[in-house]
Amino acid sequence: MFDLHLAEVADFIRAKGAHRVALQFPEGLKSLAMEAAEEIERVTGCVCIILGDPCYGACDLNTSYRSFADILVHFGHSEIPSMGPDDNLFYVEVRLDYEFTDLLPETLKLLSLRVGLVTTVQHVHQLGILKEWLERHGRTVLIGRGDKRIKNAGQVLGCNVTAASSIKDQVDQFIYFGSGDFHPLAVSLATGKPVIVLDPLMQEVRDVEELKDKILRQRHGAISLAVEARSFGIIISSKPGQQRKALAESLKGMIINKGKLAFLIAMDNVTPDQLMAFQLDAFVSTACPRLAIDDYLRYRKPMLTPIELEVALGIRDWGDYVFDSVLG
Ligand code: SF4
Repeated sequence: MFDLHLAEVADFIRAKGAHRVALQFPEGLKSLAMEAAEEIERVTGCVCIILGDPCYGACDLNTSYRSFADILVHFGHSEIPSMGPDDNLFYVEVRLDYEFTDLLPETLKLLSLRVGLVTTVQHVHQLGILKEWLERHGRTVLIGRGDKRIKNAGQVLGCNVTAASSIKDQVDQFIYFGSGDFHPLAVSLATGKPVIVLDPLMQEVRDVEELKDKILRQRHGAISLAVEARSFGIIISSKPGQQRKALAESLKGMIINKGKLAFLIAMDNVTPDQLMAFQLDAFVSTACPRLAIDDYLRYRKPMLTPIELEVALGIRDWGDYVFDSVLG
């Protein structure tokens, strides 16, 4: 079902003359790691080292591979161009090819005239087919280009929907082609436009309005709790593509200016257990923007995004709320 492009990986290993090869897989593909390592070792004669730590995105590159391997092969995500080049790094974008044409007539009924398309890296190769079909059925279809954090046209990340915001004034609504709700919610909040989810995995078409209301209520609740906080922990990620040190320092200044306490805490993986040791009233994450939102129920103390902190401190109006984003 998944094509890991092992022949191309083997070509890269041979071209580099690599002997030790680090393999990094996201959680959803880790079960394929052993089979891939066996095959790569068989055809190239190299030694593979599978990286066991969690990996959630290309932002999460294990740059320490240099201390034990010649090259790194990162599976599942596209590169983040703004993170800069590494000649010894090979990305394997993994595509999904779910059938979706049966969903198109139902989708069409929900569409306005001008539509923007966005998706994740797993489906970027199918956007052209979708665009062509919609244009044949009378729609004007645009696919935007994101900023330097984004490699492919129409591609969005949970932390970056600039491929949508770049065309928001030219479309009436968006189709998010893919599974999950975080990306379409981020597009809806960033653009203010309705978003239809065309989900080839669940084989359904849905809109995100109801869910958006629920998430906004949760976020409002977290912000209200943090208004009373006297002390804050500001989390800085040690992952190379999630580091926002300058932002963390400026948030610390904002908190101190309001007469409260603030501490910078650097972490790799952020978990509720690790935070329990810190006797603080609330946390602000400058790491992956999904942390605060996806894991809302797991934290005992309010966990805010930087934008939410501004609301809690009275620096930003709730009416200007958007998801946190990491720009390239
Ligand atoms: S920061 Fe979070 S949303 Fe952005 S690429 Fe990394 S894991 Fe995905």
